[in-house]
Amino acid sequence: MHVLVLGAGQLARMMSLAGAPLNIEISAYDVSSEHIVHPLTQTVIGKGLENAIANADVITAEFEHIPHDVLETCEQSGKFLPSSEAIKAGGDRRIEKALLDTAAVRNAKYHIINTRDDFYNAIESVGVPMVLKSALGGYDGKGQWRLKDASQADAIWAEMEECITATDNQAIVAEEFVPFSREVSLVGVRGKDGSVAVYPLAENIHTNGVLSLSTAISDLELQAQAEEMFTAVANTLNYVGVLTLELFDVEGTLLVNEIAPRVHNSGHWTQQGAETCQFENHLRAVCGLPLGSTKLIRETAMINILGEDTLPQAVLEMDGCHIHWYGKEKRQGRKMGHINVCGDYSGELQRRLCALAGVLDKPAFPAVHEFAENFSSSN
Ligand code: AMP
Repeated sequence: MHVLVLGAGQLARMMSLAGAPLNIEISAYDVSSEHIVHPLTQTVIGKGLENAIANADVITAEFEHIPHDVLETCEQSGKFLPSSEAIKAGGDRRIEKALLDTAAVRNAKYHIINTRDDFYNAIESVGVPMVLKSALGGYDGKGQWRLKDASQADAIWAEMEECITATDNQAIVAEEFVPFSREVSLVGVRGKDGSVAVYPLAENIHTNGVLSLSTAISDLELQAQAEEMFTAVANTLNYVGVLTLELFDVEGTLLVNEIAPRVHNSGHWTQQGAETCQFENHLRAVCGLPLGSTKLIRETAMINILGEDTLPQAVLEMDGCHIHWYGKEKRQGRKMGHINVCGDYSGELQRRLCALAGVLDKPAFPAVHEFAENFSSSN
């Protein structure tokens, strides 16, 4: 099987690594250079999307910000999965909100803003405090504003108006502020036959808006809620592949924050912690193969490596630690790789996270240090 992935980043790279044992070959379309590249080496292996589409058995995507003409071309080939509709829902918060409403899945109350009048109507209908998000192009907390009280409205409107006029078809989605106790995510997969399998929920800690620590958790009540929401969204889209729901936990009730129509950073722990990792399961689904078990095989957490291209040797010396580099050039804050840390039971995983805090730099890995500090003060 030959799978063409739209996008040539670390997610395509990890799909390639997971596909090899199944004889699934991956080539990647670099959307900015428009070259077809090898997902591991980035070597150019072809030019032009048309040829690559003709040579592929299946086409899929590793991110949602794909030009619509590229999506349409891929969809017309009849080989593209999940679907341009699903990818667009992940890339435009207006479509995403409409999808969640159609699927009858709980999400934060919202109002779409195109004009100043819309903004003042949003303040009335959604209330303050409020989170304002650009409909297009925002990720990792970028393109967002917080309105804490109405006196800030004029200043925030000036910035939002600039954002709306800078990009074609841009708008702002105003959302009620959700007083969540924690953020979790559900990664799951739906096959061509409509079968669904979900991984255990992951609890996610963000630092400056970027995921820094993600830990698989066991909570039967939350898991059941999340699975029901996942099935509703995936069935509404007639989705095929891995789909991720980012969720707010508000005292035991889940709300969907956003969806990602793809494999997800908060699912990287599955490489060591689940029977079948998310990358393999995505490929199985889009290639029409049976889905693999999503069962947890050991307690696992994932630590993102942001803006660093080396780690102390001590990390590799530790039992249960696995480093995954993405082969990228170092840039401040850039996702360069991740560490999966495993334990046979949760106490062992916790002790290993504390041991890692002892060898990892605090400014670069604040979430692990915070974990270790909280752990030592509560034990
Ligand atoms: P997003 O880009 O939608 O994932 O938002 C980035 C971060 O902002 C989330 O991970 C939350 O921590 C926070 N956030 C987003 N939406 C809300 C909301 N409606 N209420 C409170 N916090 C939010």
